[in-house]
Formats: sequence, C-alpha cells, structure tokens
Amino acid sequence: MGIFIYRDVANMATIIDGRKIAQDIRRDVKETARILKDSKGIVPGLAVVLVGDDPASAMYVRGKRNDCEDVGFLSRQYDLSGDADEKALLELVHELNRDAAIHGILVQLPLPRQIRSEIIIESIAPHKDVDGFHPINIGRLVAGQPALRPCTPAGVMEMLDRTGIPIEGKEAVIVGRSNIVGKPMALMLLARHATVTICHTRTRNLPEVTRRAEILVAAAGKPGMITATMVHEGAAVIDVGMNRLPDGKLVGDVCFEEVARKASYISPVPGGVGLMTRAMLMKNTLQAAAYLSGPMHPE
Ligand code: NDP
Repeated sequence: MGIFIYRDVANMATIIDGRKIAQDIRRDVKETARILKDSKGIVPGLAVVLVGDDPASAMYVRGKRNDCEDVGFLSRQYDLSGDADEKALLELVHELNRDAAIHGILVQLPLPRQIRSEIIIESIAPHKDVDGFHPINIGRLVAGQPALRPCTPAGVMEMLDRTGIPIEGKEAVIVGRSNIVGKPMALMLLARHATVTICHTRTRNLPEVTRRAEILVAAAGKPGMITATMVHEGAAVIDVGMNRLPDGKLVGDVCFEEVARKASYISPVPGGVGLMTRAMLMKNTLQAAAYLSGPMHPE
C-alpha cells in the first residue's frame, strides 16, 4: 500500500469546507447546550476581555460574541483601556475565576507591552481556560490527559477527522513551533499516532522535509511560503496561516492554486482553519461548563 493514499483520480484536491464543518460543530454545541440547560439549568458563559482598541482584536471579539449568541451561551465582554496595568487585569481575571455564571475566560491576545501575557494566562483558573494556554492544560496535553485544548490545533484535528483523513501511522509535518499552534498541533497529532516533524526557521532544507508529509500543516505566518514543489503528490495540506496583505486581502501560508493541483485535500483561507478556531472556542466553553456542572471531565 502506497503512503500517499488520499488523492482522488481528479486533478484538483478536495477543498475542505471549514465553513460547513464549523457550522456542524456549532449545531452540535447548541444542541448539547440545550440539554445541559434543560437537565441542569446551566447556561454556558464566556467572558472575553479586551485590552486596548486594536481593530483586529476588536473584530475577533465581536465574532466570538456572535458565536455565543448563535449557540445560546451567555456572553460578557470586558473592555479595559490600552493603558490599563497588569494589576487591574489580574483583579478582573480573579473576579471572573470566582464568578459562577462564567465557565470560560478568554483574554484577547496580544496584550499591551506593560502587561505580561504569561502572568495573565497563569492567573486564569485552568478549568476556565478555554484558550487552552494555561501551563496546566499544556502539561496535561503533553501527558495525554483530558484538558481544555488550544482551539486552533484542536480545530485542525476536527477538520481532519470530519473529512475522514486518517492520522494514525501517517507522516505529519508542521511548519511553525509556536506555543499556540505548532507545538500543541504536534502533540495532538502525536497522541493520534502520527509520526510528527516540527519545522521552524532553523530547519535545514525545508522543502525536503515538507515533501515527506502525508499531512502538512502550515503555521508560519508567511504568505504563500508553501509552494507546490514543497508538497508531495496526494498530501493533505492544512493552512493555518492568516496573513493580511497590504491591499487588505486575507491569505494563508500556502500557494493555494498550485498546491491544490498536487494535494488531495487542502483547506482554504479564508473559509478554513480560522472558522474552526472559533467553533472550537464554543466547544471548549461548553466542555468547561459541563465540567463545572458535574463529575465529567473535559476532553
Ligand atoms: P508565530 O509567529 O508565533 O510562529 C511562527 C512559526 O513559524 C515560528 O515557529 C517560526 O519559526 C516559523 N516560521 C516562520 N517563518 C518560517 C520559515 N520561513 N520557515 C520555517 N519556519 C518558519 O505565529 P503563530 O503560530 O501565532 O501563527 C502562525 C500563523 O497562523 C499566522 O499567520 C497566524 O496569523 C495564524 N493563526 C491562525 C489562526 C487561525 O485561527 N486560523 C490562529 C492562530 C494563528 P521560529 O520559531 O524559528 O521563529
């Protein structure tokens, strides 16, 4: 059996419909939230904290509020001015940690210079850390224990699973090693028995490494850096990159047109992983609410 099994007889890759998959996830979340409300009287609550007035962050926060409304969650937004200090933000997080109506806390990153993100992330109660960035949740991910998982790589896993792309035993290559995407992505694929390689700026002969991939995840934040020559015929290519070009256009890390002629599956930008990330935030909030409501663990 050849290793590159995904490719169909058609010349173009199947485009993974992130919009549809995210919609399916939100529908499932909405239904489970309804059951949680009917059976235990609990409405999942998400608090989103925005510090400063960065337009991109404000846009993401708006999207999260809309998603909460869509699935029937309580959503609260807290706006702090751009010159707020670390102490003020810590006090707010501590208050939200104690707030029984709030099951998930998300502090929108990046934070202004005067506030240390790592201190804020560590101040969030791990069971309310719906971003999955708290060291305890990352530690649990490393150890293969149930935890709230970072939304973007968790979204990629859902994308692969719901598209029917097999993972076990496959060669997976990830370009990027950030704490929020690349590293947790590698751990999740490893937990599902892929053979995982992580690439970064010091990787020698990147194309040679990426060409080994049956599953290639691009998360470098470099527009169009993954070209067709870097992709093996028949690979599944997931584009995490979200890069805003000077003309305002949103593009991924993958040269979509040429790679689509070589891969068997490809996720587009927009319409791909970004929507999955948002849907997974809803799923994590639901899990956090369900966890707090009884003897079940988020997984
Ligand atoms: P970071 O900048 O934190 O990390 C980028 C990683 O890519 C680094 O590990 C870096 O290597 C590596 N890298 C950069 N250039 C190259 C290169 N030329 N060759 C090999 N490796 C390279 O970014 P993030 O992980 O936060 O985000 C990555 C991308 O994903 C961005 O476009 C971001 O906007 C997007 N994103 C999308 C999300 C979504 O929902 N779709 C959510 C989060 C992020 P090194 O460590 O050596 O510097």
